[in-house]
Amino acid sequence: MNQDSRNRRVVPVLVPMPAERPYSYSVPDEMSVVAGSIVRVPLGPREVAGVVWDVPTDQIDPKKLRPISQVFDCPPIDADARRFVDWVSAYTLTPPGLVARMLLRAPAAFDPEVPLDGLVWSGTEPDRMTEARARVLELARDGMAWTRSGLSHAAGTSLTVIDGLKAQGLFDAVKIPPPPVVALPDPSYAAPTLSPDQEAAAAELREKATGGFSVSLLDGVTGSGKTEVYFEAIAAAVAAGRQVLVLVPEIALTAAFLERFHDRFGAKPAEWHSDLAPRTRERVWRQIAEGRVQVVAGARSALFLPFKDLGLIVVDEEHDPAYKQEDRVFYNARDMAVVRAHIGSFPVVLASATPSIESRVNAAQGRYARVVLPARFAEAAMPDLRAIDMRRSAPARGGFLSPVLIEQMGRTVERGEQALLFLNRRGYAPLTLCRVCGHRFQCPDCSSWLVEHRFRGQLICHQCGHTEKRPEACPECGTLDHLVACGPGVERIAEEVVSHFPDARTIVLSSDMLGGVKRLRLELDAIAKGEADIVIGTQLVAKGHNFPNMTLVGVVDADLGLANGDPRAAERTFQLLSQVTGRAGRTGKKSVGLLQTYQPAHPVMQAIVSGDAEAFYEREIAERERAGLPPYGRLAGIIVSAATRAEAEGHARGLRRAAPRTKEIDVLGPAEAPLSMIAGRHRFRLLVHGERRAELQGFLRAMLVEGPKPRGSVRVQVDIDPQSFL
Ligand code: ADP
Ligand code: ZN
Repeated sequence: MNQDSRNRRVVPVLVPMPAERPYSYSVPDEMSVVAGSIVRVPLGPREVAGVVWDVPTDQIDPKKLRPISQVFDCPPIDADARRFVDWVSAYTLTPPGLVARMLLRAPAAFDPEVPLDGLVWSGTEPDRMTEARARVLELARDGMAWTRSGLSHAAGTSLTVIDGLKAQGLFDAVKIPPPPVVALPDPSYAAPTLSPDQEAAAAELREKATGGFSVSLLDGVTGSGKTEVYFEAIAAAVAAGRQVLVLVPEIALTAAFLERFHDRFGAKPAEWHSDLAPRTRERVWRQIAEGRVQVVAGARSALFLPFKDLGLIVVDEEHDPAYKQEDRVFYNARDMAVVRAHIGSFPVVLASATPSIESRVNAAQGRYARVVLPARFAEAAMPDLRAIDMRRSAPARGGFLSPVLIEQMGRTVERGEQALLFLNRRGYAPLTLCRVCGHRFQCPDCSSWLVEHRFRGQLICHQCGHTEKRPEACPECGTLDHLVACGPGVERIAEEVVSHFPDARTIVLSSDMLGGVKRLRLELDAIAKGEADIVIGTQLVAKGHNFPNMTLVGVVDADLGLANGDPRAAERTFQLLSQVTGRAGRTGKKSVGLLQTYQPAHPVMQAIVSGDAEAFYEREIAERERAGLPPYGRLAGIIVSAATRAEAEGHARGLRRAAPRTKEIDVLGPAEAPLSMIAGRHRFRLLVHGERRAELQGFLRAMLVEGPKPRGSVRVQVDIDPQSFL
């Protein structure tokens, strides 16, 4: 804290704006602040919430200095979380204020929770006793505090009865502290009996769980008990009184996860994701800051919760692309979890059946400990996996399912078991065209086709959300009834399934389903209970669920995803297919996984069918090393977008010219992005490729400082460790 010439206290405050550094504010005499205090400060004509930061600020003319207007009655953001914000900011080249904004996502929680109004029996008796009054008094006589509605509900009376008694002075008004969002977990509530392999893994994690910084890669096939094992690490951290964060990639997944956690610990973890009701969100945030919540299960943004004493992070399905945020602050929550653990000197566990190449290499090189679970738990066997060569077993005209798959589905349904068809494409068809003039329906604002959603009768752009009604006539040539759907989405596969199995209970699951997450959770529950015979789903169903009766998994298009220019295409496809086929046979019934492919000899298909993941990893790792791709080299994307193509291209070229010259780092491009337009903005990409030890951030900063400044409609986005190249 600086003292200026007039002995006024001056502090730096980081405000949630794209500012490169904190701003200085004076602290009124009567106020007391510490680093981390959440404060309200004037900013231009407005007031915003910010955090008192650490770095000393520039000298500033005392006359211009404005005072902090309020210090919130809230635990300060701890030093580790502040260092984390600084680190993420420097690494991702994002202004620290924008990163800090992620810490301040629940403004209503900066004020303490309001206590509830309670009633306590005053010891007096009513003027006249009725049956309802007697019931109320029976409960109230124990002297505990009740809320008005709680008491009426428990006594089975109307609120009028309570109010009548209150008017007679039967109750004293008291304040009841706000209830916890979740009960505290009990680490010894229902400890499982582990298999010897599981026990060995658990012992290793338990020991690390209360030590300093370490990274463990928990690697085991789906169903081997990874969750069961990392629960033991959580139990150890909880027993030591620390807070624990479990990152899970998909919200829909968490329902089953929360139940399991409850079975093990006797209480649910707090949830954190964008679908929480605002009020719940605020309470969770506040109670984490106060240390009243001990375990949080959340999406990637949970990394920026105001933990009081975080002592362990578990990243489930660590390879999952959903951990990468590509909006405002571009970061990979898996990698940032490791950083957060390092800053806080605590352990992190990365769990996956198909670890990312990055984590596998880190384990092989000794930076991470590799903890392996070699087999499925108990009698559960891996499904029998086969490729269907679509060149030989072609689907019927107009269909997408090969006779081999249809036959297997029939047998599965006959046995009273469940089948899952997986296709990672929402909607009915990815492209609609006119058979007469060849017109293709394209988004007016994006370089992408409109996807037909037949249930809704709409054409939808999956990039920007633009929707239009599917017309009867071609907008170009005017011909009626000659529009054709090209290619399948899940809705179209459902149509084909119903034509083959009209009596089967068929259900389609995808993220755009009406009813949102709530409905999705209900449907997943219903499927697990056996209330569907055939499930057709996108990657939502691929993840984490246990469907005990599911014995057939058919992948409609195993090649989808191999064809794009992504250096991780093979790895991604391998991970997704392993995960999908891993849905089958989790309870010991004989099960089958079938991959429809036009490339049965492709290494990914070979790896899945042979079950030889090691060979696949070795090959991929060797390939990455040869090409100097991550983790053997470093990548950053620069995306330049603008209202016109010329502006975007010109700016991208200017950046390229500003690149420093060094041996360790190359700049590729600019090239028009594969998605050359999104929401009316033209896009160009540069790819920066460096050696492993290269100082990529310094290089990029120099480019941005030396290069043209974004003007007019131009926007520049830096993406360190890009996952998407579109
Ligand atoms: P993974 O996370 O590796 O996919 P899970 O932890 O979900 O594996 O375990 C798969 C299934 O086996 C789950 O239904 C789980 O309850 C059960 N299971 C695993 N280990 C045990 C154990 N030691 N005792 C009882 N059930 C277990
Ligand atoms: Zn669009």
